[in-house]
Amino acid sequence: MNDSLKPRYQLVHGQVLHFLADPGEHDAADSYQYFADGALWIEDGHIADVGPWADILARIPPAILGEAEVFDYSGKLILPGLVDTHCHYPQSGIIASFGRQLLDWLNDYTFPAEAAFCDPAVGSATADYFVERMLAHGTTTASVFSTVHPESVDAFMASAERHNLRMLTGKVMMDRNAPANLMDTVAEAERDCLALIERWHGKGRLRYSITPRFAPTSTPDQLALAGALYRSQPDLHVQSHLAENPDEIAWVGELFPHCRDYLDVYNHYGLLGPRSIYGHCIHLAPVEIEEMAQFGAAAAFCPTSNLFLGSGFFNHPAASDAGIRVGLATDVGGGTSFSLIRTLGEAYKVSQLHQRPLPPLRAWFLATLGGAQALYLDDFIGNFAPGKEADFIVLDPRATPELDFRLKGGEGLAERLFAMMILGDERCVMATHIMGKAAYIAA
Ligand SMILES: [Zn+2]
Repeated sequence: MNDSLKPRYQLVHGQVLHFLADPGEHDAADSYQYFADGALWIEDGHIADVGPWADILARIPPAILGEAEVFDYSGKLILPGLVDTHCHYPQSGIIASFGRQLLDWLNDYTFPAEAAFCDPAVGSATADYFVERMLAHGTTTASVFSTVHPESVDAFMASAERHNLRMLTGKVMMDRNAPANLMDTVAEAERDCLALIERWHGKGRLRYSITPRFAPTSTPDQLALAGALYRSQPDLHVQSHLAENPDEIAWVGELFPHCRDYLDVYNHYGLLGPRSIYGHCIHLAPVEIEEMAQFGAAAAFCPTSNLFLGSGFFNHPAASDAGIRVGLATDVGGGTSFSLIRTLGEAYKVSQLHQRPLPPLRAWFLATLGGAQALYLDDFIGNFAPGKEADFIVLDPRATPELDFRLKGGEGLAERLFAMMILGDERCVMATHIMGKAAYIAA
């Protein structure tokens, strides 16, 4: 269909839930809005109104109501699209690889898989697969690692652009301690990053993220370049890894003896600040936690990966108490699923090990507005405030026989949300809409 013939308006009917702030550990009532018989009114891809169905209907001028595309999702939950704050699309094919912890995992599985992305056809096919799976799992925005090859960024950005998605990615920077076929140099990284930023940053809904893999695989000169790039243009992002594994942390200490600790390496090279996000952040000293909050750097909580690779248990309540922005992440392919719903279930189990169980409303905040805030994209996405981009998902809390049996008493909102994050998965995702339009409908 020609763009000008597409409906400018969408009217969506269902149980609408979205967050205005972090509900905390006691489900603060003013942190969210829930309309059991609710509606979204969307104009030109943006939220124009949200509220009870009857009120929204009464507010729409009758002259334009007839022009709207109507989606009847009565009885189903409508939430903002899920936000995956850390994942690696080139690792889609190595999920479920046996028996390694971080550093051996990189050498034995990750690096061989990423080497194949020198072929642009591998990048395109994998990016298309990854984007399609994200939509089927209800994820509409993600902070994504590509590989060292600039073609891998082109492939992902092109696929995301075709679906009109708000996505972040960047070329991995690695100029030491990696296989020769996966290394760049400072000069190549500078040339490639500048070209990619020029080509993709700010194009449609896309943004570029400066992506040094982690401190051990970049020389001090390359980290300095990454810091300079981050400051070179407005709205550039940074993504990397931090304090995932004890052997990794000891290695960072050997490689950067002049730095106080792991976080101080990134600070030293100017890589901490708004729009910077670090995966894992499990083994941090109190001073690192304090500094992350001070600088406005965010943490990506990747529980399925942290359990799968035996890395440890991220302390979400402690990070949050300190004022660090935290988002939820799959960390595909160290993580074990594309599903942020399953990831919430694992986040809950990790929170139990800290004796501070993750309450259901806070959990779904983490997967939506919390993720948007962690990525500093909450001016655009994360909830249904008027003016935001209308990315949303439709969830069926009784999608499986087990959920149906568990929820047969017609339980309240918090209990349905909790049952979904423990028993549910991508089978709960009935539809995913991008800028109002249906981008995925479950078969
Ligand atoms: Zn990662």
